[in-house]
Amino acid sequence: MANEALREQLVLLYQLQERDLELLSIHQKLQDIPEQIAQLEVGVVKYTKDIEAKSEELAETEKAQRAKNAELEMNAVQREKYQTEQRTVNSNEAYSALERQIEYLDNQDEEAEEVILNLMEESDQLKEELAALEVEANREKERTATEVKQLQQGLNTLETERDEKLKQRKAFLPKVNKALRDEYHRWMKSRLGSPSNAARVKTGFVALGKNGICSSCRIAIQPQNLKEAQKYEKPVYCSSCKRLLYVEPATPNIPFP
Ligand SMILES: [Zn+2]
Repeated sequence: MANEALREQLVLLYQLQERDLELLSIHQKLQDIPEQIAQLEVGVVKYTKDIEAKSEELAETEKAQRAKNAELEMNAVQREKYQTEQRTVNSNEAYSALERQIEYLDNQDEEAEEVILNLMEESDQLKEELAALEVEANREKERTATEVKQLQQGLNTLETERDEKLKQRKAFLPKVNKALRDEYHRWMKSRLGSPSNAARVKTGFVALGKNGICSSCRIAIQPQNLKEAQKYEKPVYCSSCKRLLYVEPATPNIPFP
């Protein structure tokens, strides 16, 4: 005759573990969401930076354009001076010398005008790019805001779910035998304490034994161990992965797990 008390305790402990695995998965999602939100916001920041760089480039182009225009104005003043002088000089030589100065200014102006034209084209191009970038940035901002809102709603839902499950867990906990519960908690705590072990928590402390196989390590339970475990007289552990075994009862019609 199987020891029903221990079997029932194994059922309860297994149920506790199921609750905890669900809680862990919620916890993991809750941790991932802020990271996902941060990732989305990186996209928006990138656009802001691109716009800043492009605006800077445009400002530089316009500044160069202003400098060239100032050059033209200075040349115009200088040219007028030469032309005034030309009206008062009384030698052909002096007149020609002034004429050459004026020609020099004309050449300078021509070059400056070409540079200005190029700069104007460049700033038109930059303005177009900037406008396109701003449209894209706004689209990205809206998209991000929508996604962030959804993620935050998801976060709130998960938090509510977690709180509800924690409440249920608290009510459920006293049903589980204290010694088993303590052993289980110690095991969970040691696994969750280190990241490399944390992944192994997923298979749990209680392993089901179905068709003679341990659900945690997938290795056949040793026959002697299996027989022992089916008596439910004392806790039996898997000889390979050391999980506490809750094996399928030998007697039919007993629900499992
Ligand atoms: Zn095992």
